[in-house]
Amino acid sequence: MKLYKIKKSIIDNKGRGLYASRDIKKGTKIIDYIGKIITNKEADESDKFDNKKKIYLFNLNKKFSLDGDFSYNIAGLINHSCDNNCDYNGKGLKIWITAIKDIKKGEEITCDYGFSFDEDYKQFPCKCGSKNCCGYIVREESRWRINKKFAMKNKKVKI
Ligand SMILES: [Zn+2]
Repeated sequence: MKLYKIKKSIIDNKGRGLYASRDIKKGTKIIDYIGKIITNKEADESDKFDNKKKIYLFNLNKKFSLDGDFSYNIAGLINHSCDNNCDYNGKGLKIWITAIKDIKKGEEITCDYGFSFDEDYKQFPCKCGSKNCCGYIVREESRWRINKKFAMKNKKVKI
């Protein structure tokens, strides 16, 4: 039985998301993230990843990346949240999505997209609506930098 269904997303109002079709226990594998294995060289040289498509690109190791930008990759519909209930797991050339919290039936399934602060985070605003939302899709460990930047801006302190 599938653990999810595809629905119009509350987070991404132009798109769709995955929703839990039943209660899911923490630690449960929900879905595989599938796509095409390409070399990192191909990923670097391709125009495809100059824009927002790079959110579907996973670096697997020194040599390979996984391009998940295909309509058959249902897991690509999962939206980012700063208070995510799932995470990407990987081994070898495989990636899948696992629940990191108990998820109630009907909740949207969300991940941390994990963009680093150095990337151009401003082109990826976050509208997840969670209390700790920093306003941009940035990986959890880097979010404090944005929060700090905002705080400094508010205090009109020169950085
Ligand atoms: Zn957010």
